Amino acid sequence: MVNTPPKLSKEALASAGAKAVAARRDRAEIKQALANEELSIFDVINDGRESIQRMKIRELLDAAPGVGERRAFTIMEKAGISQSRRIAGLGAHQLKKLREEMILNKVPVNQGALIVMSGPGGVGKSTITAHLRSHPAILISVSATTREPRENEIDGRDYHFMTDEKFDQLIAQNEFLEWAEFAGSRYGTLRKSVEDGRAAGKHVLLEIEIAGARQIRKAEPDALLIFISPPSWDDLVERLTARGTDSPERRAARLALAEEEMACAGEFDEVLVNHRVEDVASRLLSLATSRLK
Ligand code: 5GP
Repeated sequence: MVNTPPKLSKEALASAGAKAVAARRDRAEIKQALANEELSIFDVINDGRESIQRMKIRELLDAAPGVGERRAFTIMEKAGISQSRRIAGLGAHQLKKLREEMILNKVPVNQGALIVMSGPGGVGKSTITAHLRSHPAILISVSATTREPRENEIDGRDYHFMTDEKFDQLIAQNEFLEWAEFAGSRYGTLRKSVEDGRAAGKHVLLEIEIAGARQIRKAEPDALLIFISPPSWDDLVERLTARGTDSPERRAARLALAEEEMACAGEFDEVLVNHRVEDVASRLLSLATSRLK
C-alpha cells in the first residue's frame, strides 16, 4: 500500500518551507561558528532555539575543527550516546560523559562561567534569577540555609533548608564554596553542585550577599561579580517601603543595610542598573559568555 502524504494548504506548505529554510540557515551559521572556533560545542548545546536543538550531536563534533570522523565516533561510543542522538534528547548524565570523553580525547571544551549576583535587598535580584531560570545555558545554584522556609518556597528549588547541626556538618566537611551569616541565619553555596554545573558547560549563577561574594572573589578568581543597582536611591527606598508589612524599626534597619550594601558596588566587575529585568538578564548572559572567550 502506498502512503499518501497529508494534504496541506498552499499557505501551510509555504510557511513550513520558510521555516525549514530558516532552520537550515541557523544550522549552517552554527557550523561555521564552530569551524571558526567562535563557539564551542557546549555553547551550541546551550542554544535554546528549536532549529539548533534538533541538530545531531554527531554533526557538531564533525563540524568542530580537529576532531575528525574517527574521534567523533569514538567519543560518542564511549559516552554511550547513539550516533543519531539530537541535542534535545541529551540527558544530564550523557552531557557529563560527553564532556569527559571530549577532554580525554583532547578536544578543547569550555567550562561554564561562575557568575555572582549581589546587590541591596529590594533591588530585584530574585526577579532576575526567576527570569533566567528556564534558560538552558544557566544553572541557578540552590543554596543551603538554616532559615525557615517562607510560604511558597520549595525545599530543593529555592533553598536546601536544614538544621544548624547539618549546616555545621557541611562546614566541617568543606562542602561550602562560601558561606555567610545574614539576618540571623546562615546561607552557603554547595561546592559540588557549582563544579558539576560548570563541568557540564552551564553558567552557574549564585545570588548571594556581599560577604559571600568577597569569599568567591578569593576562592575563584575567574568568577564574574555582578552588582545589581537600582535606578536611583529613591527608587530603592520606594521598593523597600512598598512591602508595607514592616514595622518602622525594621524598615529603618533595611534601609541602613541597603545603604551599606550600595557602598560595596565598586568591588564588583560590573554594575548593572535594573531599569528592566529583561535587559539585565540578557546583559548578564552576554557578559557570562564573553567571560569565557
Ligand atoms: P533570603 O533569606 O531573603 O532568601 O536571603 C537573604 C540574603 O542571603 C540575600 O541577600 C541572598 O542573596 C543571600 N544568600 C542566599 N543564598 C546565599 C548563599 O549561599 N551564600 C551567601 N553568602 N548569601 C546567600
